[in-house]
Amino acid sequence: MDIILLGPPGAGKGTQAGLLEGGHGMVQISTGDMLRAAKTANTELGQRVKAVMDSGELVSDEIVSNLIMEKLDDLGPDQGVIFDGYPRTEAQVYSLDEILTARNRKLHHVIELAVDVEALVERITGRFTCGNCGEGYHDTFKQPTKEGVCDVCGSTEFKRRPDDNEETVRTRMGEYRAKTQPILPIYEERGIVTKVDGMGSMDAVSNAIEAVLALD
Ligand code: AMP
Repeated sequence: MDIILLGPPGAGKGTQAGLLEGGHGMVQISTGDMLRAAKTANTELGQRVKAVMDSGELVSDEIVSNLIMEKLDDLGPDQGVIFDGYPRTEAQVYSLDEILTARNRKLHHVIELAVDVEALVERITGRFTCGNCGEGYHDTFKQPTKEGVCDVCGSTEFKRRPDDNEETVRTRMGEYRAKTQPILPIYEERGIVTKVDGMGSMDAVSNAIEAVLALD
């Protein structure tokens, strides 16, 4: 089963994709994570996308489609995937159709995480992660139990995404509104979209997603 988690930056797509990986043995495909990894490794691709990513704009459709194809070709044909942060433009929707058809794969669900954009700005600008194990934290909602020490691995190194500052977040929201929101009607016409309230607790959102998957 292949599904898309769709929603603006900070809607909780990554968190929910992580839960689905654990619970269903699905694989998360996050173009944002792949692009950040390329940046960190300072590959040629990483150097090419750095400025665009840091500004909060979208990288080219061709770059992300290539990443998706590479990733899918590493997986077995029966391995279900969760697309997180992809597709983000109309062109990417149609590329994904071709990519999936060529691999005999089918999109089962598009789950829209519906959220209040203003609340998201606070959610995003406060978030940080453990530099060692990647555990997620938040200035307001989830501080480590012992200040400055990761609850999971004990590391004292934390990091913030460079594009999680307010100005860049607003650009990212603008990109979402202008380019990503318009792809919803394409999937709605196909009858595969379910809207889930993304403002609830992590568990409430997860339960709502589970209810959608249980329909199959
Ligand atoms: P994310 O982690 O999904 O918020 O993505 C971080 C940044 O990576 C975005 O602001 C874009 O610059 C870039 N990016 C990630 N996924 C895509 C995509 N599907 N299309 C274009 N750019 C993307």
